[in-house]
Amino acid sequence: MASGKLIVLTGPSGVGKGTLVRALLARHPDLYLSVSATTRSPRSGEVEGKDYYFLPRADFDKMIQQNELLEWAEYAGNYYGTPRAKVEAQINLGNTVLLEIEVIGAKAIKQTFPDALRIFILPPSFAELERRLRGRGTDSEAAMMRRLDRAKQELEASQEFDKTIVNDDLETALKHLELAIFS
Ligand code: 5GP
Repeated sequence: MASGKLIVLTGPSGVGKGTLVRALLARHPDLYLSVSATTRSPRSGEVEGKDYYFLPRADFDKMIQQNELLEWAEYAGNYYGTPRAKVEAQINLGNTVLLEIEVIGAKAIKQTFPDALRIFILPPSFAELERRLRGRGTDSEAAMMRRLDRAKQELEASQEFDKTIVNDDLETALKHLELAIFS
């Protein structure tokens, strides 16, 4: 049976994972991006089933109990997880599946999918990460402080991953990602 690849992109919030993923998908429409489940409220413009499956906490807990999540983690007061079924179906079809997830979940994937390629996206510096997060302006100051605290811890784990790529210049980072995924 054909067997595809699982690519996990991780790194701190604000590092540009989303931008890199959008650029990758635009260039390689055959890549399949997994849509996560979350208990966080939708931000303006976010679409149910496209950006996330927005779930009440009780429904998320049910997915955990029924082993329907490949990984999950708590992040800044909310829960996020990867629905298992669609990822496995795509892998079995021979497709390359992308996960864009935070660091704890990305670490957990090593147990559930030892063959996954786990890539850690680094900011050029912590100051630049903070600047990018503040520029996004979507969170309260308290939520921002939680994201920055978490980012500090997350950066310490970067060496545990298969590959690290610095997102300074978008084009350069994309080239490195393409090399990692397609070679
Ligand atoms: P945001 O609230 O900004 O959309 O996402 C917050 C963090 O959760 C980001 O670092 C994002 O990559 C991560 N995230 C999104 N989906 C998942 C998931 O399914 N599992 C895990 N572990 N993290 C996720």
